[in-house]
Amino acid sequence: MTTVHFTCPDCEQTIEVNDAMRETILDAGCPVCTAAAAEEHFAVTCE
Ligand SMILES: [Zn+2]
Repeated sequence: MTTVHFTCPDCEQTIEVNDAMRETILDAGCPVCTAAAAEEHFAVTCE
């Protein structure tokens, strides 16, 4: 099981995301504050 978390570099919110949300965040920015996001802001956890 793989879980991906996005941590916003600006508002520091951490959100669990799926592949579709990941694409949306890379395209449109943080869902909370709309700050630009990059691959480095996603953390993948394997359980
Ligand atoms: Zn944010």
